[in-house]
Amino acid sequence: MNLRPYQADLVHNIRASMKKNNHSVCAVLGCGGGKSVVEAEIARLANAKGNRVLFIVHRRELCAQIAATFSRCGVDMGMTDIQMVQTATRRLDKLAKPDLIITDECHHALASSYRRIYDYFSDVPRVGFTATPIRLGDGGLGEVFDDLITSVSTKWLIENGYLAPYKYYSYKLADTSQLHVRAGEYIASEVHGLMEKNAIYGDTVETYRKFADGAQTIIYCASVKASQETAKAFRAAGYTSAHLDGETPPNDRETAVERFRRGEIKVLCNVDLFGEGFDVPDCACVVLLRPTKSLSLFIQQSMRSMRFKAGKTALIIDHVGNVFEHGLPDDPREWSLSAEKKAKAKNSILIRECPMCYSVIPATSAVCPMCGYEFRPEERKYLETVDGDIVEIDAAEIERRKLRKLPYEAYAKCRTFDELREFADARGYQFMWAVRRANEMGILPLKYRHLVRRFCS
Ligand SMILES: [Zn+2]
Repeated sequence: MNLRPYQADLVHNIRASMKKNNHSVCAVLGCGGGKSVVEAEIARLANAKGNRVLFIVHRRELCAQIAATFSRCGVDMGMTDIQMVQTATRRLDKLAKPDLIITDECHHALASSYRRIYDYFSDVPRVGFTATPIRLGDGGLGEVFDDLITSVSTKWLIENGYLAPYKYYSYKLADTSQLHVRAGEYIASEVHGLMEKNAIYGDTVETYRKFADGAQTIIYCASVKASQETAKAFRAAGYTSAHLDGETPPNDRETAVERFRRGEIKVLCNVDLFGEGFDVPDCACVVLLRPTKSLSLFIQQSMRSMRFKAGKTALIIDHVGNVFEHGLPDDPREWSLSAEKKAKAKNSILIRECPMCYSVIPATSAVCPMCGYEFRPEERKYLETVDGDIVEIDAAEIERRKLRKLPYEAYAKCRTFDELREFADARGYQFMWAVRRANEMGILPLKYRHLVRRFCS
């Protein structure tokens, strides 16, 4: 098996860390970086030394897929057990004791099922792999890993031709700001209600027509109903489409995926199906219709269209504002095993949408790099640091700050009543302060004269 240079480096760094007596190592490799090939190489090298490997996946569907990759990469399948986490947990006493445990998608590894396995084989060294080493809603992975090994970034993978470059469109069809969060994720029933209320299926077809007409597209929906309705809306508009969810019989699922692969189906709507690691066919566009608090889910869904193909530009159409929660898929992120440091990764949301073409662009752009739209001065955004977090401020706030810094007498330079009011607002003075000064200066509009007669005798 020929590894790419950065994959070989990662394998080397993982082994070096274990040689330094780290008992459990968490390796980070971005989506599209070829995680399963690196996992296979770690397993193969362990087998070659006569070591037995327990490989843990979190979904049953992944077992066969991983086994195929492993055989292809020369892993000794007689020395390697590939197990779904739930299954392994139930039959720990029947498993042959491994010499190495490899955990796939190990951002789940704080869950009790994984810990039961780790505790049972507490003296067995472990390696975990993930693209996003944080877990929804709680602490860092430092509780189950000793060392964090990172590799090349998503940006690097794009720049070096391992992933397709992308265009990200944010076209909000539903306001997610009122949704409540439980256990770190939006409450599913509320999300469903929001989608129903906004009846956004038809609008989804319209944006698809505008930005991605005819592209092979995967749509991530929040509920089965929403997914079915979306597929229906596309069919009504003349696009071949299908809906799949976890309950779809395997045969029907395979048929639909195969037809999608051949281009006979243009639009594939699904609920939580084409998620982590699942071998989805190549597509040119993804549409996000499920708001999520999970960075991991966001990255996996949004990057699904980015598999490399010469000349391809992947499209991402985000109808639920996920990009404003998580930033762009290839934003630089600083990972850490500790709980408090992971929050830092969230502060890279320095983006906004262009009101003309809906592209997501850097927050500070004065001109949209996609369509050339020039932001008016009052629309411009500025960045500043507050307590170590980077926040956006607008032009009006900058103006207010300038006014606050001026000496009191500077009000005399105001030319109009409106200017005086802005001066007063910026410094926290009452409306009547502005009325009195304007009256003294002879610039009070007629409509406020009665206030002078009543209050400023
Ligand atoms: Zn634009």
